[in-house]
Amino acid sequence: MPELPEVETMRLGIAPVVGSRIVAVEEPPSGLRPLLIRPPLVQFRRKTIRRRIVEVARAGKRLVLCLDSGDRIVLEPRMTGRILVTAPPDRRHLRLVVRLEGGPFAQLVFWSLRGLGSVQLLDPEAYAAQLGPTKLGPDALEVTASQLRHRLGASRRAVKVALMDQHAIAGIGNLYASEILHRARLHPATPCERMRSGQWERLHTAIGAVLREAIEWRGSTLADGQYRDAENRAGQFQHRHRVYQKAGQRCSQCGRGRIRGIVQAGRSTFYCPVCQRRARGIQ
Ligand SMILES: [Zn+2]
Repeated sequence: MPELPEVETMRLGIAPVVGSRIVAVEEPPSGLRPLLIRPPLVQFRRKTIRRRIVEVARAGKRLVLCLDSGDRIVLEPRMTGRILVTAPPDRRHLRLVVRLEGGPFAQLVFWSLRGLGSVQLLDPEAYAAQLGPTKLGPDALEVTASQLRHRLGASRRAVKVALMDQHAIAGIGNLYASEILHRARLHPATPCERMRSGQWERLHTAIGAVLREAIEWRGSTLADGQYRDAENRAGQFQHRHRVYQKAGQRCSQCGRGRIRGIVQAGRSTFYCPVCQRRARGIQ
């Protein structure tokens, strides 16, 4: 599932469409499960055709095309969705084509093997209700150290689980939560309420460092090969993972521990038992 670095990489690739005008919206015929498009295509077209894209933004793990009408097109890639400015890998899994004029790209396409994603057109009120500050926490790239502590500090949850709560902070998912905690040298089961000031600072620094580095390397394309940037290129950050899916391997940070895999809240977590020592009294 793409997380903040992957969606931010998609956003950077798509950003040149700012200034382009939407001239057509097409759902190519296919016998596959249709993408969730809201409102239905007839209404969607009526409200988007002839509109200019004024900004390409990101809301956590979603991409947002802001239109000159004030409405926003929210694209959620989910597991296998690609949002491309180049030709799609095949026509069979092409889910939506947005034709453009007046910019560098003639089209923006939503391609997805499984078709689990969604495309929603939201007016400002609906956008605020779904993705405004009451629903989505501050972006993980922009959250300040004090905001982080304020939003998570009273939680009894394990820090790994709390970091993935999009209402608390937006953008971090299962992969980056493990990488961030390893960088911060924090045991993933540490309850937030037990963390000390120095640990909060390390966590805040690690969030910024890991996410920025992952964006620099254009995100992580895992063994399934599904995540791609806007030009259908694989990311490179998977080669720089330190713990994710590395159970049994020697820790590159301390050179002594062997990476362990555990399950927390139904999701796999990876950590080094030497650099991420469990504090006394924590189960
Ligand atoms: Zn280690």
